[in-house]
Amino acid sequence: MADLSVFSASYAEARGKFVDAARSAGAAVHEYRHPALKGPDGEALCLDVAVAGPQDAGRVLVAGSGTHGIEGYSGSAAQTAWLAGGGAKRLPKDTAMVFFHAHNPWGFAHKARGTEENVDLNRNFVDHAKPYPANPGYAEVHPIVTPAEWNDASIAGIFRGLDAFRQRVGEKAYSTAFNGGQYSHGDGIYFGGQRVQWANTAFREAVAKHAAHAKHAAIIDFHTGIGPWLEHIYLCFHAEGSAGRERARAWWGERAVNLAGVTHKALADYQGVLIDAFAAALPKAEITAIVVEFGTLKREEVQRANLGGRWLRYHGADNPALARKVHLDFCEAFYPSDPKWRSAALEQSREILDRGIAGIGR
Ligand SMILES: [Zn+2]
Repeated sequence: MADLSVFSASYAEARGKFVDAARSAGAAVHEYRHPALKGPDGEALCLDVAVAGPQDAGRVLVAGSGTHGIEGYSGSAAQTAWLAGGGAKRLPKDTAMVFFHAHNPWGFAHKARGTEENVDLNRNFVDHAKPYPANPGYAEVHPIVTPAEWNDASIAGIFRGLDAFRQRVGEKAYSTAFNGGQYSHGDGIYFGGQRVQWANTAFREAVAKHAAHAKHAAIIDFHTGIGPWLEHIYLCFHAEGSAGRERARAWWGERAVNLAGVTHKALADYQGVLIDAFAAALPKAEITAIVVEFGTLKREEVQRANLGGRWLRYHGADNPALARKVHLDFCEAFYPSDPKWRSAALEQSREILDRGIAGIGR
């Protein structure tokens, strides 16, 4: 079994381990600190960046964690383990490994999905000067998924309502309505926000600073919650037949592009995702982008946990005992405590990172 000491119980602990491992590996460390907000224990909230290899490398692989706060714990462990395991010494010529630690540090520290404004950072990278993308289906979904009470009956009601909606509109329209992103209901789920989040600005600043010089730039965005237990899946959004898609296939294999293991019957049309912002920020670079998800629970259990997390934010204070239980379930769904799960995520992430490095360094 892998050394699990790279996993942490809090954001501050994870951040400390990451920064220490980066310094020990000789990586340059940069910090993007939130000007005002603190974590639950008064700790600073930062996007931390570690650059291993030449600062001006022509080939840059960025691997990021914590776009969805809570999901950052396993991505952080993967980053720290790679640094502690001597990865920096094995880099090909003219190649840098750049780790972005905690894309959404508020969510990471509070063990939540969204930002301090209930915004799903992975839906926030839209052009906020233009009218927001419409998602009329979400207006129908919203009252179904936002009960004020959280109990067996209300949860059963959610899934009855969602099933009926899905049967009426079909899988694809259901996915887009439910989790494609929406800009109309601030207290809803998959809310993309009505302004640029601090974490969005910090990410784009960091990309410009650490990757703008690259001719070849790639990003791996580590998530959890989609896919089978003890396995990982890839989500590749490069168009069919594009060079980016072929690179993803060459680097990580057929499964990088064929949705192997993805239990969603249809993927939503996502709006404003982080890897698209990465590409947009680097118009001169050849881009390869991939999302990696470490599977946890069954899809319906993950949905229930996620909706529980939303209930917690808006109604948890009324019932602290229930709120604690709902939060524990939420954490288990996105950051399982089982050592077998953590070991598998760590071993798989090492291979994913090494394949990415080998691919971009070729
Ligand atoms: Zn995620």
